[in-house]
Amino acid sequence: MAGGLEIPGCDSCDKPAILHQDYSGRTFCGTHLVESVRKRVSRTLRQQLILPKSSLRDGKDDRTTILVAISGGKDSAVLLERIHAILGPRPDVRIIAGCVDEGIADYRSPSMESARKLTDSLGIEFITISYPELGFEKMDEVVELLPTIRQQHGEAKGMAPCSFCGVFRRSGLNHLAKVSGADIMALGHNLDDMAQSVLMNMQKGDLDRTLRLAPHTSRPLAGIAPRIVPLQWVPEREVHAYAMHLGLPFFHEECPHAPGALRQRHREFIAALEADVPGSRHGLVHTAERLKELHATAYPGAFEDHSANSCQRCGSMTSGQVCKACEMMDWVGQAGAT
Ligand code: SF4
Ligand SMILES: [Zn+2]
Ligand SMILES: [Zn+2]
Repeated sequence: MAGGLEIPGCDSCDKPAILHQDYSGRTFCGTHLVESVRKRVSRTLRQQLILPKSSLRDGKDDRTTILVAISGGKDSAVLLERIHAILGPRPDVRIIAGCVDEGIADYRSPSMESARKLTDSLGIEFITISYPELGFEKMDEVVELLPTIRQQHGEAKGMAPCSFCGVFRRSGLNHLAKVSGADIMALGHNLDDMAQSVLMNMQKGDLDRTLRLAPHTSRPLAGIAPRIVPLQWVPEREVHAYAMHLGLPFFHEECPHAPGALRQRHREFIAALEADVPGSRHGLVHTAERLKELHATAYPGAFEDHSANSCQRCGSMTSGQVCKACEMMDWVGQAGAT
C-alpha cells in the first residue's frame, strides 16, 4: 500500500473499527462492540443478581424490585437500557429508576432531563429526591460554605465538595430504595470507576471499605439494599461508545464541583497506568474480588451483626452514635450561622 493511513477494520466483519481494546488486542466496529458489551453485562448481571426461583407465587405479588440509580450520564443510561432489555420482560421483576438531585445549577436540571427522556422512552417509573427534601443543603451552598467548614473542623481540612456530596447522595439513594421498596439497587459504575475505588481504598489502607465494595451479592450489608454493578467489567470508553452508537439520551457535561476531588487524580493515574500496562484496571478489580472472597471464607458472618447502631438523629445505620451525613450537616449549619 502506497503510504496513506490505513483504517483498521473490525475483527469480526469488514466494517471500519470504532474501538481498539489494548487489553485484549481486539478491534470492533460499532455493531460488534455493542454485541460484546451486551455479552459482558449479561454475564455480570447473571452472576450478581440471584433472583428467587418462584415468581408470583399463589398469585401473590412478590416481585423483586430493582432500583436503578440514574444520573442522566452515560453510565447509568447504559445500565438502565440493559436492565430494561434483560429483565424488563420478566413478570417477577419490577424496575424503577431513581435520581438524587444534589442542587447543582446548570448541571443537575439538564442531566435530570436526559434521565427523564430515557425513562419515558423505556416506559420506566422514575422517582427523584432532592437534598433539601432530605434535610441537606443544596450542594452549591455547601460549596460556598466549604472554606469556613474547613477552618472550623480539622477533620474537614482536606475535604472536597465530593466528600460531602458522596455521603449525602448515598443517604438519598437509601431513601429512594426505602420508599420504592427496593430489594436490590443497581449502580452504573464502570471498570474505570471500580479500579479507581479499589486504588483509593488501598491507598488509604481502608481494607474494610474494599471488603464492602459492590457487588453485595453473596454478602449483603446490614440495613441497606444490596448493590449490584453490572457494568463493572466494561471500561468507560466502551460504555461511552456504546451509548453513542445507540443514540441513548445522556448529558455530556461534568459536574462543576468535580475538579480538585481526589478521585480526579486517581482517574488520571489509572488512565496512565492502563496506557502503560493494559489490563491494569481488570487486575485491580480482580484483586478486590479475591480479597472479598478470601475474607468471606475466613469470616463468614463478619458483616451480619456489625451495624447494630442506628443514628440518633435520622435512624440510618452507622458505626457510631450519629451518622456521617448528620455530622456533616452540623458542620454546614455551623458554618452557615457564622
Ligand atoms: S462530582 Fe462531586 S459534587 Fe459533583 S455530583 Fe459528583 S459527587 Fe457531587
Ligand atoms: Zn464488526
Ligand atoms: Zn443520621
